[in-house]
Amino acid sequence: MKDSYLQKGKRRKLVAVIRKKGIRDERVLKAIEELPRHFFMAKDFESWAYEDKAFPIGNEQTISQPFTVAYQTALLDVHPREKVLEIGTGSGYQAAILSLLGARVYTIERQKALYDKTKKLLKKLGFGGIRVFYKDGYLGLPEFAPFHKILITAGAPEIPKALLEQLKIGGKMVVPVGKEVQTMYCITRTGENEYEEETFADFRFVPFLKGTQ
Ligand code: SAH
Repeated sequence: MKDSYLQKGKRRKLVAVIRKKGIRDERVLKAIEELPRHFFMAKDFESWAYEDKAFPIGNEQTISQPFTVAYQTALLDVHPREKVLEIGTGSGYQAAILSLLGARVYTIERQKALYDKTKKLLKKLGFGGIRVFYKDGYLGLPEFAPFHKILITAGAPEIPKALLEQLKIGGKMVVPVGKEVQTMYCITRTGENEYEEETFADFRFVPFLKGTQ
């Protein structure tokens, strides 16, 4: 494929920007450099795909800012073959990044229109191995639990307890917690009923909503 189509040069620059903002995880940076973000965006916004910004993807949702994707993915510390549950499929970009890191990805979306569109897109782009579910992410996927890692890509008003129970012991959940502004939490399950919390920087996400639509 032509470079103008793949936009490799623009992606290299984007990675330099993210690196400068403090992301040091080389595997994550490589995945961002490899994956064409413009494939996951609406035509109207494609030309801005390599700005470090969030953009609308329809249905009042956004594709997260690349820095945020890199930040959450680096905290999650994904290793090949790990089972990873993502809540908030949206455009599918974050799920594809997790897949490039070698994870076995399960992702849940609560909006039918986005679910239909993104499931098709992921398959078309060669990410047919990503399992996409239409349901309320607050419920998780007990039938596939436990997961090594759980990543929430919408702002949760509080830590979703039901999802913590779907973590393996030793597993981690990365979740932005808060109403207007969210603080990034990384929670490690250290025992059957024991969890350790660490907090990081503040972000703004679209809300983690209950139910489906
Ligand atoms: N990871 C996405 C980010 C999308 S924005 C990407 O890479 O593009 C967050 C997404 O979370 C939205 O699509 C929104 O519909 C979804 N969402 C919000 N609450 C949810 C819930 N309870 N279950 C599943 N998805 C949810």
